[in-house]
Amino acid sequence: MMIYDTILVRLGELALKGKNRSQFESRLIHNINTCLFAFPQVRVHKTYGRIYIDLNGCEIEPIIEQLKKVFGIVSFSPAIRVAHDMNQIKEAALAIINDLERPPATFKVSARRTDRTFPFSSQEIPHHVGGYILAHREGIKVDVHQPDIEIKIEVREEGVYIMGNVIPGAGGFPVGTNGKVLLMLSGGIDSPVAGWFMLKKGVRIEAIHFHSYPFTSERAKQKVIDLTRILTTWGGRIRLHVVPFTEIQTEIKRTCPEDLLVTVMRRYMMRIAERVAEQIEATAIATGESLGQVASQTLDSMNTINRVIQLPVLRPLIAMDKTEIIEVAQKIGTFETSILPYEDCCTIFTPKNPRTKPKPKVLEKVEAKSGMDMEQLIASAIEGIEVIELKPQKPIDKTILNSWF
Ligand code: ATP
Ligand code: MG
Repeated sequence: MMIYDTILVRLGELALKGKNRSQFESRLIHNINTCLFAFPQVRVHKTYGRIYIDLNGCEIEPIIEQLKKVFGIVSFSPAIRVAHDMNQIKEAALAIINDLERPPATFKVSARRTDRTFPFSSQEIPHHVGGYILAHREGIKVDVHQPDIEIKIEVREEGVYIMGNVIPGAGGFPVGTNGKVLLMLSGGIDSPVAGWFMLKKGVRIEAIHFHSYPFTSERAKQKVIDLTRILTTWGGRIRLHVVPFTEIQTEIKRTCPEDLLVTVMRRYMMRIAERVAEQIEATAIATGESLGQVASQTLDSMNTINRVIQLPVLRPLIAMDKTEIIEVAQKIGTFETSILPYEDCCTIFTPKNPRTKPKPKVLEKVEAKSGMDMEQLIASAIEGIEVIELKPQKPIDKTILNSWF
């Protein structure tokens, strides 16, 4: 039997005052509604700086699973809401204890009263409720220091909430409260994790993927779509910009020295990403680079690649080890998709001995000598961008929004 009818949500309170706080809360409510789209009867509302979710008869477990993915929630608790009636409060508290999967040996009751008209004080409530539990459950003891379960009671004007378990939330900030970045998304393990870290900090993301059909297959592109869709379960809608990159790559391969192919290619990617970022009003680019992981991820290489653009490039994984990145990828659900064996455009053009210390001056010369018509090539790649809109768990809505640019 389902005993709970409400979930109480606790938000990160640090450093949030005044206007920021109310924006944070409104955005969080919006994001909770988005992640609970499959449960239309659920109602999310705010009362006196708290967020409550009225279940209206919905199963609680699937909702708990969804809430664990909403950034900006520090923790939440299933709750029973009753009237201002001590008997109902006692019964609800006992029901929560009886409903626990692991029977507790010890408990504690604490109370807060914001409704001063309630005839019992916040010291008296635990006393009455604790006594009732002791009388109705054999073998259980009170432990005020380290109880197996703490029953929290909140007496508010609109009702009394009785809570048991505290479930940890995802932390961070609500997505949409901290600006927007353009995520460079490959089909690998790292960049989806980098995107997840940005979402965790409340940053909205759009993704850009460079696709080199037919060197890379339709399925490689599908993999990136799938990864984006997994990220939407953490971040709501995400727009994926797929850039046709074949012509540029072919030209680079034809005209540039082999040991610098990757560096030149990355510089082109950056240039295109910056223009797209400007069009979508993103104020930074994010990548999945991690220092020293491969030849193109040395400081020299990043410096040389970075030179061609003005926008900041954020690299949330820079100091992480591969094993740590993999752990996160598994936790957030992208790993299984990332390891599917589809070629990406970099592996196909990766030379045997890439230069690990490419200097900016050398690259400028190489690019000038290549005779490539940079402006024309970039313009035509941008012209050919396909924009795919992805939403959480809904069927993929493939739309080519040429009017977008
Ligand atoms: P990942 O696991 O994210 O693919 P990686 O370890 O394979 O990273 P690289 O291939 O050197 O590293 O790529 C470094 C970063 O450049 C990636 O994390 C990603 O942000 C970006 N990137 C690489 N290839 C592409 C691509 N085809 N489209 C968009 N971004 C890309
Ligand atoms: Mg890669």
